[in-house]
Parts: sequence; C-alpha cells; structure tokens
Amino acid sequence: MHCKILGIPVQDGAGRMGCEMGPSALRTAGLVAALGELGHQVSDLGTVVPKPLTTKPHDNAALKALPKIVAWTDAIAEAAYIAGDDGMPIFLGGDHSMAAGTLAGMARRAAESDKPLFVLWLDAHPDFHTLDTTSSGNLHGVPLAYASGQGGFEGYFPKLYAPVDPTRICTLGLRSVDPAERAALHRAGVTVHDMRAIDEHGLAPLLRAFLERVSAADGRLHVSLDVDFLDPSIAPAVGTTVPGGATFREAHLAMEMLHDSGLVTSLDLVELNPFLDERGRTATLLVDLTASLLGRRIMDRPTRSH
Ligand code: MG
Ligand code: MG
Repeated sequence: MHCKILGIPVQDGAGRMGCEMGPSALRTAGLVAALGELGHQVSDLGTVVPKPLTTKPHDNAALKALPKIVAWTDAIAEAAYIAGDDGMPIFLGGDHSMAAGTLAGMARRAAESDKPLFVLWLDAHPDFHTLDTTSSGNLHGVPLAYASGQGGFEGYFPKLYAPVDPTRICTLGLRSVDPAERAALHRAGVTVHDMRAIDEHGLAPLLRAFLERVSAADGRLHVSLDVDFLDPSIAPAVGTTVPGGATFREAHLAMEMLHDSGLVTSLDLVELNPFLDERGRTATLLVDLTASLLGRRIMDRPTRSH
C-alpha cells in the first residue's frame, strides 16, 4: 500500500485552539515509521495551505470563522482530490471541519471512477449541523451535513462536485447529538449507531453489516476518526470530551475489522489537540490505531514504557 500523509493544521472550526499542532504531534509520535514497519510505502505530501479569504455575511450571528473555514475547505478539497489519485491518503488534522474538504475531494474521486463512496464516521458527535442550525457556531460541527449535500451551504462553502449519498454514511459511537441534528440525520437516512447500540449489540456486528454493504456495492470507503470517538480516559487530548466512549479494545477491533475488509481507501485523523494531551499518549494511541487499520495485529504491539 502507498500511504500518503497530508497535514491539515486547521483549528478555527473548534471551540478552542490547539488542533493546529495535531499534524506535528502525529508525525512526532512516529506515524511514518509505524506504517513503514508494516511494509507500506509512505510519502509525506506536506501541509495544506488555505486559499485567500473572502467574506460574505450570514444571518446566523453565532457562526465563528466562516471565511477561514471556507478558505480551508476549498484548499483541502483540491488537495484531497489530488492525493486520491492512487494509494491511500491519510489526512492529519486539524479539527473536524477539515472533513468538509477531504470528503468533497474523495467523493469527487469516487464519482470519477464510477464507484460509490461510503463514509464511516467514528465520533461522539454526528457533525450534522447546517450553517443555520448550529448554535455553538463552531464549524467542526457541520462537515458531514455539507459533504452530504444538506441545504444552506450554497453560496458560502465551495460547490460540491459530487455530494456523498447520506444513505451511504454510517456513524458509530455517537453520544452527543443535538435535536436539530437528530431530526436531520433521520430525514437524510444516515445509519446511526450510538454508544447504546454498541453496548447492547457489540461493535462488531454493527460494523460488519456496514462493511458488507460497502463490499456488495463495490464501494470506496472513507473513514473519519474523531479523537472523541474514544473514551476520554484513554484519549484525553480533545477539546470536546464526552464520557462513555469507545474502549481501547473496541477501537482496535474496529481498525482490525476495517483492515481485514480491505475496503478503506482514505482516512481522517481529527481533533487531536496536543495542548491537552498527557505526554503524547493520545497521539501515540492514534498512531497505534492507524497501524491497526493498516495491518498491525494488536498481539504484536511492542510493549511501551507507559
Ligand atoms: Mg467530529
Ligand atoms: Mg466529536
């Protein structure tokens, strides 16, 4: 596998500063070496730079940094599209607003290759607000709605070449959903598995059913991994901790199943805020999870000092 690493140091979509340092922390935690040890070819494509700002007023006064996020989305969509020509792009965030661009770029790539794009969204939150429904105004809460063609983004965010069909999106690990999002997810036909579903049924059957759908449709699969999918006790370095997240084993199991499926074509690692980390343990966990997704067996995991 040819892994292509791309740094996307956007932080203006989150409620607090720090995600800008995410790509550096993931590189420092040894991502390139970990993938290389698995026999993959790894290219570091460097860092995305946002397009120039354009400002257009919006009726929702709560919105924060809209021109900046639009400028980032435009640049990220282009970079993701280019990186997606072959191999497996791994996008290092950066807050989750970057998925507006990575999904737009990968959806265009999939459309041009006549394959349906499926999205696995591993997150405590669905990030399914529109510019009109968000009350926090933090734009890391809108990327999935934008990329799947929900209303209200026209004239502000870049025009989508190919929206992701919302019925091909599966969210896993949810435990913080606003009422407007709940209704919109249901309307759009997104598959929603919250933490209760994982508690009741176990993660494996839920994920397996989705992977079977991807496989049956001969689809491409983009995985978007938000740090807050994980329980804060194992992954403290995120500005939006919500108790009751995925455990160490559940997270690794998901990655191992994704690897076994052979279906994953691109990956986001988002919301890592190294300022909130404890001696790099969250960054290290993300590198280990990425290695699991790319073929490392947990049984072979080297013993670490912590
Ligand atoms: Mg998120
Ligand atoms: Mg989240």
